[in-house]
Amino acid sequence: MRSIAIIGGGITGVTTAYALARRGHAVTVFEKHRYVAMETSFANGGQLSASNAEVWTHWSTIVKGLKWMLRRDAPLLVHPSPSWHKLSWFAEFIGSIPHYRRNTVETVRLAIAAREHLFSWAAAENIDFDLRKQGILHIYRDRKSFEHAAEVTRLLAEGGLQRRGVAPDEMREIEPTLAGNYYGGFYTESDSTGDIHKFTHGLAAAAARLGVVFRCQQNVTALRTDGHGAHVSVDNGRGVETESFNAVVVCAGTASRRFAAMLGDRVNVYPVKGYSITVNLLDWTSQRSAPTVSLLDDETKLVTSRLGMDRFRVAGTAEFKGFNNDIRADRVRPLIDWVQQCFPGIDTRSVVPWAGLRPMMPNMMPRVGRGRSPAVFYNTGHGHLGWTLSAVTADMIAGVVEENLGRGDRVALQAANA
Ligand SMILES: Cc1cc2nc3c(=O)[nH]c(=O)nc-3n(C[C@H](O)[C@H](O)[C@H](O)COP(=O)(O)OP(=O)(O)OC[C@H]3O[C@@H](n4cnc5c(N)ncnc54)[C@H](O)[C@@H]3O)c2cc1C
Repeated sequence: MRSIAIIGGGITGVTTAYALARRGHAVTVFEKHRYVAMETSFANGGQLSASNAEVWTHWSTIVKGLKWMLRRDAPLLVHPSPSWHKLSWFAEFIGSIPHYRRNTVETVRLAIAAREHLFSWAAAENIDFDLRKQGILHIYRDRKSFEHAAEVTRLLAEGGLQRRGVAPDEMREIEPTLAGNYYGGFYTESDSTGDIHKFTHGLAAAAARLGVVFRCQQNVTALRTDGHGAHVSVDNGRGVETESFNAVVVCAGTASRRFAAMLGDRVNVYPVKGYSITVNLLDWTSQRSAPTVSLLDDETKLVTSRLGMDRFRVAGTAEFKGFNNDIRADRVRPLIDWVQQCFPGIDTRSVVPWAGLRPMMPNMMPRVGRGRSPAVFYNTGHGHLGWTLSAVTADMIAGVVEENLGRGDRVALQAANA
């Protein structure tokens, strides 16, 4: 049994803890908040969406970013103020454009594999997270965007995902509450939705039953390694204390870049801000007027999830403005307007806004693997798909940790026997 520290109690940290504990390791999770899943894993779009696996590293993203730069309600907003972090990130983003196809296919493969783990863990641990397996419908208002989606569909099929084109009549059959005129849609029956916060809490409880220690309200201030393992320093309000482990896995979301720098690694995660609203469906008319099938509106870049009977989540927008969690009324307004246009029967008097920072790598691929030191591992940088991918990357990193620590044991044994 090896002692492993995990930095961060979001979806990636908790799934990693669970996967490692199931393999029999002694795991300690450090989380600065009082509870797990209080940052980006709090109120996201809810989609478990292999159909949203297309990476953004495409010239069309750059063109849109430039076009929308001065529009305050733009779905993608790049603030012009320069910083070394932002510039280096965009340089790497552009450098990854040639790998758009390969990375999209790889992401869809991961997303499909992730479902298996997530559903089996939820069933084994009896976790209620408002899971809804009714598919995801992508909606398009014009021919050009529908035709681009048809190309993406071929790419998704290479990764093993089936989704089919649907005409406006069939779109209405799939989701009768949707109002408006559409050119067409693509429907992925195998996709689903659920509440990331509820799931993370449920899985954390299951991990605790397996012996995982959750050290909440512990602000990690420094990470260090040497020949004897990894050392975690925390400020718990009474001063700084340092604890040692055989290994550390960094799952710290947008803070992962800073921790990686302390460990001599480069993990160029950028905080890409997004917003969500949770509409409380207080009356029967609102509940009947809200969709149960999940939607993705490619033009406005909004996604939806129906969480139980009485909550409707709408999320989206991407803003490049550094570490900023402010909830701005002019960014929330377009989400409410969209609900009123597409679902006019929903009463929007009770709306809870939220903003979170997606931990995004410039190539849009999560960083899953070893660091420079043999005692350091990363499972982070899942960007817009952390909920979708977390279960499979947790399983992957647990395998990598085991293999590497096992190798350490073998080397030590050989040295002892020599
Ligand atoms: C608006 C929006 C909509 C989204 N919609 C979807 C969707 O529909 N489907 C999907 O798959 N994904 C979606 N995502 C992405 C997904 O939510 C994220 O990828 C995922 O939540 C990231 O999880 P994480 O564990 O990497 O980060 P986090 O959840 O942020 O966890 C990192 C943890 O590390 C802790 N931490 C940081 N620093 C320290 C420190 N010094 N000491 C101790 N602890 C520390 C933090 O407190 C935090 O709890 C969306 C994101 C946003 C913003």
